[in-house]
Amino acid sequence: MKLKSLIINGFKSFADKTQINFQDGITAVVGPNGSGKSNVIEAIRWVLGEQSAKNLRGEKMQDVIFAGTSNRAPLNRAEVEIIFDNKDRYLPINEDEIVIARRIYRNGDSEFLVNGKPVRLKDITSLMMDTGLGRESFSIISQGRVESIFNSKPEERRIIIEEVAGVLKYKKEKQKAQQELFETADHLDRVADIVIELQ
Ligand code: ATP
Repeated sequence: MKLKSLIINGFKSFADKTQINFQDGITAVVGPNGSGKSNVIEAIRWVLGEQSAKNLRGEKMQDVIFAGTSNRAPLNRAEVEIIFDNKDRYLPINEDEIVIARRIYRNGDSEFLVNGKPVRLKDITSLMMDTGLGRESFSIISQGRVESIFNSKPEERRIIIEEVAGVLKYKKEKQKAQQELFETADHLDRVADIVIELQ
């Protein structure tokens, strides 16, 4: 899996549709203070399912929509698309290219799409889990995060290692299965009680 392109349209300072194509090797984004470097990274985090406006330096999610400038009117919609090369089938979708898109409107409506088809946030989260690019991923290290990882408790650091090692997904599935087993046992108990009452 390889990050091919990012298309940002109406997101934060990117009022105009802007496409960034990533080449092989290292890509560095340089620019003066306030020119929008962090907004590029936030666009990646947002399209991959970031749910906290605070983590995107806003108060509510609509704050990601271009808010206008002295000579340009605000926009009503923000859209980000991220395109992955999936020829190695790293993502479990049988397509050479995976396009994940997220849109939000001023009225609060929002949507996610994978290769043009509407999906739920949950689908994006589970698609990206263990790729290292998920919502709580460690591929994107924002300012201050390194320090907070160093200062985190051993249990929190363990979660980081589990995500990196790719076991977090299975742990979550195990938890879900255990919960279902617990509920099923509860139902069986109730059935047994009813059977006894009827005898
Ligand atoms: P630094 O080098 O100081 O960290 P940067 O290049 O990372 O800066 P960003 O923090 O990405 O810059 O961009 C900040 C700019 O984005 C500010 O000028 C801010 O006004 C603009 N901005 C943020 N949200 C919006 C929005 N919703 N609409 C329009 N502009 C926005």
